[in-house]
Amino acid sequence: MIFCSDPYPQNEKLKNELNELFNSFIKSGSYIKGPNCSQFEKNFAQYNGVKFALGVANATDALEIALRAIDIGQGDEVITTSLTAVATACAIKNVGAEVVFCDIEVDGYNIDPLDVERKITGKTKAVIAVHLHGHPCDINQIRKTCDDNNIFLIEDCSQAHGATVGGKKVGSFGHASCFSFYPTKNLAALGDGGAILTNKKYIFEKCTELHQYGWVNRISVSENGRNSRLDELQASFLNLKLRYLDEFNEQRRKIAQLYFNGLESMNIGLPEEKLGNRGVFHQFVISSSSREKIKEHLQDHKIFCGLHYEFPVHEQPNFRKKNCKLPQTEKQVSMILSLPIYPGLERKSIQKIVSLIGDVV
Ligand SMILES: *Cc1c(COP(=O)(O)O)cnc(C)c1O
Repeated sequence: MIFCSDPYPQNEKLKNELNELFNSFIKSGSYIKGPNCSQFEKNFAQYNGVKFALGVANATDALEIALRAIDIGQGDEVITTSLTAVATACAIKNVGAEVVFCDIEVDGYNIDPLDVERKITGKTKAVIAVHLHGHPCDINQIRKTCDDNNIFLIEDCSQAHGATVGGKKVGSFGHASCFSFYPTKNLAALGDGGAILTNKKYIFEKCTELHQYGWVNRISVSENGRNSRLDELQASFLNLKLRYLDEFNEQRRKIAQLYFNGLESMNIGLPEEKLGNRGVFHQFVISSSSREKIKEHLQDHKIFCGLHYEFPVHEQPNFRKKNCKLPQTEKQVSMILSLPIYPGLERKSIQKIVSLIGDVV
C-alpha cells in the first residue's frame, strides 16, 4: 500500500539515531523546556534567518498565540485563504476574530494577493498567508499590501519548511510565522510540535508569556496564558531531523521531477514553480476533470491519493457565510488530486503511478 504521505521510511532510516536520542532523553531527567528545546529554537531560528523562535505544542496553537500576541480578538477581521488546513481558520475564530476568506490565484493554489487587497476593511488587523503544498505564496506583494494598510502579516509555513523566495526562507517575511511539525510535514516530529518565528522582540516575549500560563520569568502573571510547550523528546528528534531537512526536501524535488517527466505529455494540470521561488513539494498536486477516475484507478492498485482540500474552509459548516463566493477555489477543488510524495518513496512506485494515470487520461 502506498499513501499520499508516509512518515515511516524517514523514521526507519533514522531509527538508530532516534533510539539513541530516546535513551539519552530518559537519562537526562529533563523532559520539558530543557536544553533540547532551547537548542532547537536556536537552530530553527538560524536555519530560517530569523532572530527569535519559540517551540510550542502544534501549529494551531502557534497561530492562536501569535494572533493574541499582536492583540487580535473580538471585533477584528483576519484575512486568509479558504484553501488551507482548517486549523488556519480555527485559530482566527478561537481568538474571537472574524475570518475573511480570499480566493486563490488563477495560476496556482496560493492566496491571491489582489483578492487580499480587495477584502481589506477598516476592521482588518492581519493577514495569514499560507504557503500551500510547499510552494511559497506571493509573499512580497502581500507584505507590501500589509505595510501600506498598516496591518500585520503572519505566515503559515506548516507545509513549506525550507522553501525560499529569492533565496530567502519563507517564515522570514511576516511579523511572525507559524510552523507545524506534525509527523507528515516536511520537518516532522514523531508526535505533535510547532513553532513561532519572529524578528520582533516584543512579539517573541508576548508569545513566550502566553505559551506558558502567562508567566513572566516564572514569577508574575499579568495575562491569562495557556500551556502549549514543545517537549524535550520531540525537540531532540527535531534537532536531528533539521539536519536532514534540506536532503529530504531535495528528495521531494527529485520525486516531483520524475512526475513532471512522466506526466507532462498527458492532458493534466501540473504544479508550477514561480520564477525566483523554490518549493519543497509538501504535496504534488495535479489537476484533471477525470480526477475521480484517476483516484479510483490508483485505489484499485492500493495507491491512496489525497485531496488538499476536498472542501475549502468557507464551505465547512462551521465557517459557512452568506455571500461568500470564491469561484477559483470552488472550481479547483473538484479537479485537484495529491499524488504520493515523501522521502523514501521508491522510483518504481512513481513509475507505476505515472503509468496507471496514463491508463485513465
Ligand atoms: C498542518 C497544518 C496546520 C495545523 O498544524 P497542527 O500542528 O496540526 O496544529 C495549520 N496550517 C497548515 C497550512 C497545515 O498544513
